[in-house]
Amino acid sequence: MNKMILRFLDTGVTSSSLLQPEIWVCCPQCQQLAKITQQTEQNQQHIQEYFSVLCHTCFYRKSFKHTRSIGYSHVSYYSHTEQNLEHWRGECEINLRQKCLKCQKGKFILQRRYVRRSSIPFYIQAECNFCRVIQQFDQGQFQIKKLISNPTGIDPIFHYELFLSVAVAQGQICVYNPQHLQILTAYIQANLRQRTCTNYNRGYFSRLPAWIKSARHRKDILKALLRLEQMVSTLQPLHYSTPYYSEKRS
Ligand SMILES: [Zn+2]
Ligand SMILES: [Zn+2]
Repeated sequence: MNKMILRFLDTGVTSSSLLQPEIWVCCPQCQQLAKITQQTEQNQQHIQEYFSVLCHTCFYRKSFKHTRSIGYSHVSYYSHTEQNLEHWRGECEINLRQKCLKCQKGKFILQRRYVRRSSIPFYIQAECNFCRVIQQFDQGQFQIKKLISNPTGIDPIFHYELFLSVAVAQGQICVYNPQHLQILTAYIQANLRQRTCTNYNRGYFSRLPAWIKSARHRKDILKALLRLEQMVSTLQPLHYSTPYYSEKRS
């Protein structure tokens, strides 16, 4: 039997480069396909980013502007988009930090987790850490944050569920868009994986879970990726342009 060598060459793919040109998510209103796009303006110190999501079925739309200093990583989005809570169905954390006006010395400090936003009570009670007086606080007085323990399957901008997501026995396989699906498929299919990038540890492939990279599960994972491909092809004709098995670029 002749074994074909499929070589995959990683030229430095990062998670944030895969967010382009758009992210496919489930519309929070109708659960159909919605797309997140990003526009960036850059000066010497800051990057201004305009994110918008648009559902192609119910026309739900939302956008926001985000400014970040140059040098921030993609991961920092997770802590910078907390304002977008309305459709969040996951875990939340509340944070209270108020000065005690009775003793003028102590503080009311409370941090607590809730399984979802709706289980946070409107009033909470806290004790001053100095004079021990107990006081009641309402939701306007404490901060509510999303808790994203496992960002797999969730887009890093609006925190919606990724549209191209499929469960296998070992876990969840998710991709941001058809281009991401194509590059992941090429990677899984390859029996020879090489790289030209130097900071490999920051790259997308180095952070993939071991079970995805393991040759043992290749067949199951390729089957799952094929299902995602079928989802894509019912929604838009595939126009795969660049082959990721690079022969020339090395
Ligand atoms: Zn919709
Ligand atoms: Zn006090």
